[in-house]
Amino acid sequence: MKLKFTFLLLLTVFITVAQDMTTYIHAGHVLDSKKGKWQDKMTITVVDNRISKVEKGFLDIPEDGTYIDLKDKWVMPGFTDMHVHMETEYNPHAYVAKYVDDPADVAYSSVQYAEITLMSGFTTVRDLGGSGINISLRDAINSGKVPGPRIFTAGKSIATTGGHADPTNGSNQALMGDPGPREGVANSPAEGREAVRHRYKNGADCIKITATGGVLSVAKNGSNPQFTIEEIKAITETAADYGFHVAAHAHGDEGMRRAVLGGVKTIEHGTYMSEETMDLMKKMDCYLVPTITAGKEVAEKAEVDGFYPAIVVPKARTVGPQIQGTFARAYKRGVPIVFGTDAGVFAHGKNAKEFGYMVEAGMPAMELFKVPRLHQR
Ligand SMILES: [Zn+2]
Repeated sequence: MKLKFTFLLLLTVFITVAQDMTTYIHAGHVLDSKKGKWQDKMTITVVDNRISKVEKGFLDIPEDGTYIDLKDKWVMPGFTDMHVHMETEYNPHAYVAKYVDDPADVAYSSVQYAEITLMSGFTTVRDLGGSGINISLRDAINSGKVPGPRIFTAGKSIATTGGHADPTNGSNQALMGDPGPREGVANSPAEGREAVRHRYKNGADCIKITATGGVLSVAKNGSNPQFTIEEIKAITETAADYGFHVAAHAHGDEGMRRAVLGGVKTIEHGTYMSEETMDLMKKMDCYLVPTITAGKEVAEKAEVDGFYPAIVVPKARTVGPQIQGTFARAYKRGVPIVFGTDAGVFAHGKNAKEFGYMVEAGMPAMELFKVPRLHQR
């Protein structure tokens, strides 16, 4: 069955009702993601913004309730994207933006990205790295000031000097400075622990490290290991003290292997993952977050003249197209998978493209909705 873009035909319903209100929905078809089946003619009851009941048949609606008629619609649960960047969206201006945009500019943009993400069907996201405005954005959404998905945020990523996500990569010497644990650069187990504690202090929900080089950083190597295993262990052990899990960006296999052995919970991208590392992930209960969409988008943009700095282009061309194939191999081998796109590397709101790419790579469509959600673990 061709299910590539079936999701486009489906509708996710966002329910925004005042507290203490009950809303009733007559839904033509409801996806039961636990059973992996569509249920026809259902009544959904929402009390105080929470789904309290999903019952068979179009039941009578009490007069004091709010009614939404979705009898001719296909209704799905809100989607979860475990890898986004709510503060940014890559374009040719992005590389100078950090020197010209004020934090308020970033904040206003992030509000817009959050709303686009929500209206695209994603009601929960994990933000894997920004300047820390992603923490304020989470709070603003939670307090009802701005619309957006539920956000679990890493705050600022943790990198090594010159590594992927070192915040001053690509700066001139005068602006380069020497960022440390607070800014997201750690070069020893002690600094790793300090960096985690800064994130706790700032209000993060989880930790992100960059275990290997990356595509979009202004640096030559896109896949070399960038942390020692001792540094990674110091970070994951300290993170556990605060109830945080650790997500590791990784393209190259050696950095990935160290991250898995070091106790991270998710591997982001996983581009050059070997079969040994796949087996290790199964053993260690470590999840792959594929981000196929980001891989495809960077490969495409690498061909647009001037879109990326020259040093980024060859990395985008080689790394980007690999990711879907790696996902296919990892899925076949039984590596645990969670859905994640790296939205922000490409335009926010296009997250659902990932579903199509996952199905294209061999994952049955219904299985997409059964993947575990990390925040419930
Ligand atoms: Zn990312």
